[in-house]
Amino acid sequence: GTAPFATVPDPRDPTLGGLLSPDFNDSSCLSRYRVSLYRRPSLHAISSYLVSALRRYESLHRQCGPGTPAYARAVERLRAAAASNASAATSSSPGCSYLVWNPVEGLGNRILSLTSGFLYALLTDRVLLVHSGGDALDDLFCEPFPGSTWILPADKDFPIRGMEQLNLGHHESLGSVLRRGEDPGVAPWLYAHLVNNYDAQEKQFFCDDVQAQLRRVPWLVFHSDNYFLPALFLIPRYERELARMFPRRDSVFHHLGRYLFHPSNTVWSMVMRDHDEYFARADERVGIQVRTFSWAPISTDELYGQILNCSQREDILPAVPSVGELAANADGQPAKQKAVLVVSLHGEYSEKLRDLYQKNGSTGREAVSVYQPTHLGAQRSGEKEHNQQAFAEMVLLGFSDAVVTSAVSTFGYVGHGLAGLRPWVLGSPVDGKAPNTPCRRATSIEPCFHSPPNYECRAKGDGDTGRMVRHVRHCGDFPQGVQLV
Ligand code: GDP
Repeated sequence: GTAPFATVPDPRDPTLGGLLSPDFNDSSCLSRYRVSLYRRPSLHAISSYLVSALRRYESLHRQCGPGTPAYARAVERLRAAAASNASAATSSSPGCSYLVWNPVEGLGNRILSLTSGFLYALLTDRVLLVHSGGDALDDLFCEPFPGSTWILPADKDFPIRGMEQLNLGHHESLGSVLRRGEDPGVAPWLYAHLVNNYDAQEKQFFCDDVQAQLRRVPWLVFHSDNYFLPALFLIPRYERELARMFPRRDSVFHHLGRYLFHPSNTVWSMVMRDHDEYFARADERVGIQVRTFSWAPISTDELYGQILNCSQREDILPAVPSVGELAANADGQPAKQKAVLVVSLHGEYSEKLRDLYQKNGSTGREAVSVYQPTHLGAQRSGEKEHNQQAFAEMVLLGFSDAVVTSAVSTFGYVGHGLAGLRPWVLGSPVDGKAPNTPCRRATSIEPCFHSPPNYECRAKGDGDTGRMVRHVRHCGDFPQGVQLV
C-alpha cells in the first residue's frame, strides 16, 4: 500500500488537523473547538488514513446509532434470538453490529477502557455504545459523534439484562462459550471479560481465530478496567489497518483521547474557572499529580521529599535561594511567573510547597505560585460531581508545559496523554521509602496496559506479551504491564 501521509496539525485549526469532524456547529459543547486555545498544540502527526477512518466511523454511527431504523431492527433481532435461544444469523442481511461499554473503576480507568473499545470498534466496524449505569457519565463528556448519540438508550426491556453484573464465568461470556466447546460466532450476543482477573479462556479474545468468529456476533458487551488497546496490536488481522492508522504507535491515546473526550459545558466551566484563577497569567505552567495506592504505602513527608527532589533536580521547580541570594535580589522583579497546579486527593503536598516558596520567596528569576483546586480525601467514582471534578483536573493537567505524575496512575496517564507530553514519573515507593532516583522522564506518552494477557495463542499457553511484537514493550513505570512504543 501507499505510505500514509501524516501531518502535524496547525495550532489555529480547531479541528486539530481534521481529527475532529467539522460537522458540529452548536453551543452544546463549548470545549470541543475551544480547547485548542488553551492546550499546547500537538507535536504528534495524524495520518490522513486515521482521519478518513474516523469520518467513515461517524457515518456508520449515524446510520446504526440509537434512534435509527437499523438500531431498532438490531434490538428486535436480539430480542427474538434471546427469546428463542436461537442463532442471530437467521436473517439474510447482516445489519449493524455493536460494542457496549460499561463503567468499571475510577475515571482514568474508564477513559482508557473506553478508548480501547473505540479502537476495537473502528477495527471491526462495530458501533460503540456506552451503558452509563446510573449517572456515572452524566454531564461529563460531550457527544463525540456528530448527528448521533453514543449513549445506550435506557430501556427496561433491553434484551441483555443486568449488564453491570456481568462477570468472569457468566454463561454468555466468551470464555464460558469456548470452555463449552461451542462456536462463539453463532451467539446473538456475547460478554467479553477484559478485567485484570481474566482467565486463559477469556484471554483468547486477543487471538486471531477467535476474532474471526466474533465478527459474526452482532452484540458484544464488555467490562474492562484497563487500557487493553496495546494488545490489539498483537492480532495479525488488524496489523495492516493499525499500521496505516498509526504509522507511529506511540501517540494512539493522545489522538483518540483528544478525539473522544470533550468536557461537557458544566465541566468546561470548572476548567475555565480554575484556568483563569491559576494558569492564565503564568509564563510557565507545571502540573504535579500526586496519587497514592494502598498497595504501595509511603508517608506524606517521604513523598513530599520525593516530589521536591524530583522537581528541583529536573529543573521543573527552582531551588530555594539562600538568605544571601535573597538579600541580593531583594528588589529585583522576577523574570518569570511559574504556576504550579497540584492535583491530588490530599491537600498536604500543595500546602507544603506553597509554604516553601512563599516563605523563601523566588530565586529572583522565577516567582512560584502553587494551587490545588480540590482535595477530596477519598475516591467516590459513583458520584457525578466527583467525576466532573476529576475530569476537570485531568483536562487542566493537560494544559501544562511540564508534568510530574505518579507511577501506575491512570488518572496521570490521561492528563499527560491529552497534553501529549512525556511526564516525569515519580517512582513507586520501595519498602515505604522513595526510590533512590525520585523520578524518571517517561520514554513514551502512551498509557500502560497493567494486566496484559501474557497468552500465546498458537501454543494455547503462557507467553510474554511484552516480547511478541516490536511495538509492544514492558512499561517504564510498571514492568508487568505493556505499552506501545
Ligand atoms: P487511578 O486510580 O490513579 O488509576 O485513577 P482513576 O481515575 O481510575 O481512579 C481514581 C479516582 O479517584 C479518580 O477518578 C477520582 O475520582 C479520584 N481522584 C484521584 N486523584 C484525584 C485528584 O487528584 N483529583 C480529583 N478530583 N480526584 C482524584
